[in-house]
Amino acid sequence: MSFVFPPTPTVSVPVLGQPERFPVHRIYCVGRNYEEHAKEMGFTGREPPFFFLKPTDSLVVVEAGQTGQMPYPSLTQNLHHEIELVVAIGQGGRNIKAADAAKHIYGYAVGLDMTRRDLQNEMKKQGRPWCIGKAFDHSAPIGPITPMAQAGDVNNAEISLQVNGADRQRSNVAKLIWNVAETIEHLSAAWELQPGDLIYTGTPEGVAAVVAGDTLVGQVAGLGSLQVTVK
Ligand code: MN
Repeated sequence: MSFVFPPTPTVSVPVLGQPERFPVHRIYCVGRNYEEHAKEMGFTGREPPFFFLKPTDSLVVVEAGQTGQMPYPSLTQNLHHEIELVVAIGQGGRNIKAADAAKHIYGYAVGLDMTRRDLQNEMKKQGRPWCIGKAFDHSAPIGPITPMAQAGDVNNAEISLQVNGADRQRSNVAKLIWNVAETIEHLSAAWELQPGDLIYTGTPEGVAAVVAGDTLVGQVAGLGSLQVTVK
């Protein structure tokens, strides 16, 4: 087969402890999935989970022990951090029940759902899609994937983010409104999950702005840390 120009290379994420990389298929994100974050966004109560996507080439892939570089994006005056647990799907499927979700998971990573909050808020106000606020270039930093067997009890892990050494976000994955298994159930009812899919599971409270020169360090206990500098 030949192409009219070279096809885009497959985006991949390193896997801790092995040379093979995780090839990325799609990036799903869950909106407002921690109660305290829903409140700071002006919402209360448990609503059905809702999803948006980012393009695979919006990933900023940070190799183990490295610091990622994220350029400050265009068009915004209010770039927000959202620290998130990311689920890496190893086995696809449709209509997966929460009780069976674990066998579809390859592993977990620490990710940032970077958000042009001013543009997202404007789109919300106008009832328009969030793409320009969420799915821009370099909007999805991610660290290495820890295979599930080595990840410990991710569902009860502390999740936190520091900016320039100061705490911004601190919570526990146990506070997810829709936990990982329930999220997979809902997501796989709407789309057929494929090996290589990533799911950004939502952010806890404390989202705020960063500026050029800031260094972000995010952790999920048992998964190591993700360090990114905005330039
Ligand atoms: Mn998010």
